[in-house]
Amino acid sequence: MANVKVAIRVRPLNAREGVDGGRLAVQVEDKLVRIKNTKLDGRQDGHGDSREKVLEFGFDYCYWSVAPEEPHYASQEEVFQDLGVSVLAGASEGYNVCLFAYGQTGTGKTYTMMGTQDSMGLTPRICQGLFRSDTTFPEGQNSSRVEISFLEIYNERVRDLLRGREQKKKASLRVREHPEKGPYVQDLSQHVVSDYKQAVELLEEGIANRITAATHIHDASSRSHAIFTIQYTQAILENNLPSEIVSKIHLVDLAGSERADPHYCRDRLTEGSNINKSLVTLGIVISALAQNSQMSSSCQSINSVASEGDAGSTVGSHTSSLSGGGGGGGGGGGRRHCFIPYRDSVLTWLLKDSLGGNSKTIMIATVSPSCRSYNETLSTLRYAAHARNIVNKPRVNEDASV
Ligand code: ADP
Repeated sequence: MANVKVAIRVRPLNAREGVDGGRLAVQVEDKLVRIKNTKLDGRQDGHGDSREKVLEFGFDYCYWSVAPEEPHYASQEEVFQDLGVSVLAGASEGYNVCLFAYGQTGTGKTYTMMGTQDSMGLTPRICQGLFRSDTTFPEGQNSSRVEISFLEIYNERVRDLLRGREQKKKASLRVREHPEKGPYVQDLSQHVVSDYKQAVELLEEGIANRITAATHIHDASSRSHAIFTIQYTQAILENNLPSEIVSKIHLVDLAGSERADPHYCRDRLTEGSNINKSLVTLGIVISALAQNSQMSSSCQSINSVASEGDAGSTVGSHTSSLSGGGGGGGGGGGRRHCFIPYRDSVLTWLLKDSLGGNSKTIMIATVSPSCRSYNETLSTLRYAAHARNIVNKPRVNEDASV
């Protein structure tokens, strides 16, 4: 059993946010994030304001990446040393691993997952780590194979980002479910790579093939989810018998979280595709899983003496409801586990194992530090706090039948 690990990363102020002195709403201290509603500053009506001015959340990792000259600035390398290294460790032990970036458009998801020309993100660094000779392999291992696939979900359709040009126009691929191996994308191309350079070439090819590049739709990247998957197979000899351990690493750059927010979308006069079904369903799935996990842990704690509170996720904000709603209401009452609607969206179906299943999963939630983004940041922090309650059941994927 392993809880989903959650990291928060705060990006630098952008030019628009800096113009009025760049007032900050967010503060990070060790593993705590504080968010202050600056609109309530100086308001002292006689009856007091019932809204909390400062809310505090606890996470597994908090990265302050606002200005490089600050003492606690977290660089791409530092984020990799925590999250990337833990992905590589899980994979080398034979676990499935998933790392996904969640946040409003423009808060640094792509910067964190992919990086820029001068500042490599987690995905290329993880590829690099896989081919490093100093990676520690389990005892007796004598060879390994790395296969890459890269897909995009756009308007609930799956596109292969690594198909030859001639097949680009093909209709979307189908998601199917294997009785033992779980959901998969039929006909998705898999590419065996033998070094870091080949892996990064595929990553770059896939990025160039994303819908934004193909259609020039201005905000298309904020609507699409990109899943870069590495299948890492290690041949081992156990008691002189050949065996394999297989790990799947999903590295996911999600659509902008505002795409699940009905308030945001109500203002847009265009078609309903502004609301992203996969993101809304992800919210419902996370909420339902978190509720189920809390229910299980509260059942267990009836029999245990010590009580340290729940996973320690939030302090002072227990009223969250994830965007999209419908994830099961209220708690208390009926003590029945919620149904988890994985199959209601392509994203949640494909990531079924990563959410509450056989995977070690990390979420990195990205936010702006600015007081101008107070509402969006608060909603991301609440979402992330929910995700932290999800309990997964990772196991080593060993196949002795080779
Ligand atoms: P998203 O993928 O969430 O839409 P981006 O990754 O495109 O956001 O980031 C928006 C802008 O902010 C980009 O110009 C990016 O380079 C910059 N940025 C984001 N996070 C950081 C960071 N931690 N350090 C420096 N620049 C960042």
